[in-house]
Amino acid sequence: MSFEYQRVPDLGAGLRLHLNENVGGCSPAVLRAVRALDETSMATYPTYERATGKCAEHLGVPPDEVLLTNGLDDGIMAACVAAARERVTVPESIVVEPAFDMYAACTDATGGRVATIRPRPDLAFPIDELLAAIGPATRLVFLTSPNNPTGHLIDPEAIDRIAEAARHATVFLDEAYGDFGGTTFIGRRADHPNVLVGRTFAKAYGLAALRIGAVVGDPERLAALRRSVTPYSVNICAMVGLEAALRDREHVERYVSDVRRSRRLLYDACTRWGVQYWESAANFVLVKIGARASEVVRALAGRGIFIRDRSAEPGCDGCVRITTGRVQDTEACIAALDDIIQTEAAPCAAP
Ligand SMILES: *Cc1c(COP(=O)(O)O)cnc(C)c1O
Repeated sequence: MSFEYQRVPDLGAGLRLHLNENVGGCSPAVLRAVRALDETSMATYPTYERATGKCAEHLGVPPDEVLLTNGLDDGIMAACVAAARERVTVPESIVVEPAFDMYAACTDATGGRVATIRPRPDLAFPIDELLAAIGPATRLVFLTSPNNPTGHLIDPEAIDRIAEAARHATVFLDEAYGDFGGTTFIGRRADHPNVLVGRTFAKAYGLAALRIGAVVGDPERLAALRRSVTPYSVNICAMVGLEAALRDREHVERYVSDVRRSRRLLYDACTRWGVQYWESAANFVLVKIGARASEVVRALAGRGIFIRDRSAEPGCDGCVRITTGRVQDTEACIAALDDIIQTEAAPCAAP
């Protein structure tokens, strides 16, 4: 089985609701900060103290508990490299399906073994199955809260239990969508030196192309990751961009409140269409269109609106994932789906 990351094809111009990006863009303050860089700043190896300090302040932890990374993907890779160094046996990563692709891709790239936990039919978090899968070879347990693609939060008590059961391993809790759920495990992390929390500024802050993420954890555990990333993996534009983005709180708060409204609008539409959806704590919603899921994705793309076909994911039969960001974009997507689902999807008249 190949775990190689499958790049999403370039779909050209259109309304991008397929990758959970902030379609409205980053704070204008980010562009001003990048433009203000001069020739010398571009020519000088960056130092990270100030940006790390600002990020730590934002996340409510001391600076030595934060590692800035070139996107959270880079942090996931660093955790896998660190786990691969503990070569007692073939290091194993536990991945709860359906899951973000990078956990398996990075584990595989570093010579590890991927142990997948199959989803329950209702996609509820499989705590018992996960606890049972933790063994001596387990080096990493990947958890995602809110999860991608279900949007579910994991109960913090379940995370406590997993961290206890996997004391010999690292629990990598991916909070890429933490800004939307209104909750984080960071404050609770101190009880568990083996828990690392991953954050990204790609989604809520609209910095996906700038590449900036952070891993929060116990300084000793983070030391293994620091050894596993190259010393200048975060570039100067990302660094000054992060600082500017963190200063413009209003920009991100507006987006988060748009996301809340958008999710509600989509839930209401799903109810109207009579299709199942999962209540989400992220900036997307998983919707079970049914047998015509792929066809609906194509029909929508034909109208210049891109959503993500997730129907081939474990447990996601008939499902699509729709980014719920700016309200006007969600409304445009719902209007097009109204047409496609209700008109074009109407059963053919009997001959
Ligand atoms: C998008 C995403 C990431 C990657 O974030 P980057 O900072 O862009 O590398 C990590 N985890 C999950 C669950 C994501 O959806």
